[in-house]
Amino acid sequence: MQFIDLNSQYSLLKSKIDSRIQQVLNHGAYINGPEVNELEIRLQEFLNVKNAITCANGTDALVLGLLALDVQQGDLVLCPAFTFFASAEAVAVCGATPVFVDCDPNTFNICPVSLEKTILELQARTLAIPKVILTVDLFGLPADYESIIKIAKKHNLKILEDAAQGFGGTINNVKACSFGDVSTTSFFPSKPLGCYGDGGAVFTNNDAYAQIIRSLAQHGKGVDKYDNIRIGMNSRLDTIQAAVLLEKLEVFPEEMALRNEIADRYHQMLGDYVITPAVPKGFISSWAQYTIRSEHRETIKSYLATRDIPSMIYYKKCLHQQKAFAELDSSVISPLDLNQSVQLSNQVLSLPMHPYVTDENIHIICESVKSSLS
Ligand SMILES: *Cc1c(COP(=O)(O)O)cnc(C)c1O
Repeated sequence: MQFIDLNSQYSLLKSKIDSRIQQVLNHGAYINGPEVNELEIRLQEFLNVKNAITCANGTDALVLGLLALDVQQGDLVLCPAFTFFASAEAVAVCGATPVFVDCDPNTFNICPVSLEKTILELQARTLAIPKVILTVDLFGLPADYESIIKIAKKHNLKILEDAAQGFGGTINNVKACSFGDVSTTSFFPSKPLGCYGDGGAVFTNNDAYAQIIRSLAQHGKGVDKYDNIRIGMNSRLDTIQAAVLLEKLEVFPEEMALRNEIADRYHQMLGDYVITPAVPKGFISSWAQYTIRSEHRETIKSYLATRDIPSMIYYKKCLHQQKAFAELDSSVISPLDLNQSVQLSNQVLSLPMHPYVTDENIHIICESVKSSLS
């Protein structure tokens, strides 16, 4: 059994993906080939956003987004404490400081109540005023944007949505990757929409930001690559990866339906034994991960391992506990307690999740979780 089975998907799409890659080999435009622009247009249509700018990976996408929002040395960026390292790493790469906010144990996402408390605490201590709220659609579930957007407006903050795991999620039919002033995703192979290498994209309805992001991703170009008007970076999606993504995007809606059916079966079979992930009314998750919570996580995990069932702990450490941030002033990066996030890191366990988990395997996994607890 595999944790994320990319081979099943490839067997189903093999002839289409192979011929798309062959087309790139035939025309030979490996960088900025026609598939890249075609993909950007398809992503704009799919997400209903004005601008999609592809880039080299999801971490670059975050850096590009932060730079477009004018995040600079010394700025503060609010960020959930319980997420993948890259979310806060991108902030630090821009010279800014992450300020960690506690998460909601039911959704795993940044808690709007803690978010506002943290903003008020920073103001009370007359520390620098934060500039951006970096939200994460963790494990595929969009964050609580209705509340977060209200807080952002009230305190004059911009929102950067890290939808590296969130591509495919929705709130009342509005798609993730369109909730931030700037939103980003990753096409890392195991993400809901993954390519066969590294890849990412930045999305925005703001044309001025889009222009800056396109420039930053191509050495700060002006009229062309040899007219350089700002310091940028080199961050491009390879044509072959765009070709793969074009075919995968075709079947993506069907795959979302399959992931949601699998999640429903997990809920039904496990709901009485562990805490299954909550999906608020009106929300749809892309199920980048199916993550349960239990005080007996280690027992479950080792029992599953004896039956060759893979499971993963995303994430064992919160970001304020990472050594990389150890030298930062803890009164700035964690002004309030982060107890819910710490508890999450001690209780979470992700089970195999991809569109092609068989009924038989769901059954084996769930029965094994139950046995491990008896
Ligand atoms: C995967 C991921 C990223 C980084 O994406 P890469 O393409 O691996 O650089 C950023 N944020 C979150 C939440 C992720 O899961």
